[in-house]
Amino acid sequence: MAGLYVHIPFCRQKCHYCNFYSVASGKFRDETIDAIVNELEIRKDYLGGERLNTVYFGGGTPSLFAPGKIQEIILKADKLFGIVPGAEITLEANPEDIGSTWLDALKSTSVNRLSIGVQSFNNADLRYLGRIHTAEKAESAVRLALEKGFENLSVDLIFGIPASDDKIWESNILKVLQYNIRHLSAYALTVEPGTALRLFIRKGKYQPVDEDQAAGQFEMLMSRMKQAGYDHYEISNFCLPGHCSKHNTSYWTGDKYLGVGPAAHSYDGNSRQWNVANLKKYIEAVEKNEPLSEKETLTGTQKYNEYVMTALRTMWGIDLEKVKNEFGEDFYLHLIKEAKPFENNQHLLKKNQRILLLTDRGKLFADKISSALFWND
Ligand code: SF4
Repeated sequence: MAGLYVHIPFCRQKCHYCNFYSVASGKFRDETIDAIVNELEIRKDYLGGERLNTVYFGGGTPSLFAPGKIQEIILKADKLFGIVPGAEITLEANPEDIGSTWLDALKSTSVNRLSIGVQSFNNADLRYLGRIHTAEKAESAVRLALEKGFENLSVDLIFGIPASDDKIWESNILKVLQYNIRHLSAYALTVEPGTALRLFIRKGKYQPVDEDQAAGQFEMLMSRMKQAGYDHYEISNFCLPGHCSKHNTSYWTGDKYLGVGPAAHSYDGNSRQWNVANLKKYIEAVEKNEPLSEKETLTGTQKYNEYVMTALRTMWGIDLEKVKNEFGEDFYLHLIKEAKPFENNQHLLKKNQRILLLTDRGKLFADKISSALFWND
């Protein structure tokens, strides 16, 4: 079974911290949907006949489009690949787009999971981040989505905002719990190259990010979510039992996926491909049926390193038997040796002599630990 990711590259305005590929312009919207539908046709053999058990509309802001347009893409994907009954079909939506009429229209499509880009339920945070919506709009969007029957709901939150504090962060977590939201993705604010946030910090207009504040808020998040019965199934993702994101989980378990739209990534089990991150070039390439992506075939080392990095971030951990069987004895012995110091300082633990997991303390250093476990050719 495989996944489909559809990248919708439009936003109302660019948020201060964002470096995803998207444009704050209304130009080429219809042409882009047409190109996406045509790209599906062009790449219909990419998944080697595997049917889809997840479809994910991300961006950008997919909720800028009328749900009927989204359904056009779903129907095309079903025709070309086959979508299995009960497949998870997610759409990312921003609070400012979520109204009663739009949700009613979305209900009549095949979308069965909504992921709302709340980021914070606090107006000062939202201003810092450069979001368009207000805290009141974020909360009313969540309430309305639930009332309209989108119980399969996820929200995104951002912590480590310098202008904010632990009390505000705690109240954001409590809002998720208050509405019994099934799934939460929570990310530490990062300052990416080329973003307005980076410029504002460099000019002294905004305070820089404080890593200790972010670490403290992450610890608070882990503890509150655990108390409330959520599974911390991936470093940035929490869910009520049985409600993890199937689509994102398939990225971490190495399933095949096709990504369509500008800047979308694909994986076929052996190589990764990424489409050109330019709207005009993307549309032209699809029109002319020309190559629109770059491709990299993964070496054994790259596959091992990717497995270590992604598996370590999940609650299922690194399976040592799998490493031995799939990558060989040398990789296995290297992993055992390099993991030892982290087991000794309680950043890693070994479960049933077979699974390597991050401890809660270790989760604060996940990137550093996985780098130490990597194989360098
Ligand atoms: S709405 Fe999302 S994709 Fe668009 S600029 Fe903001 S963070 Fe980036």
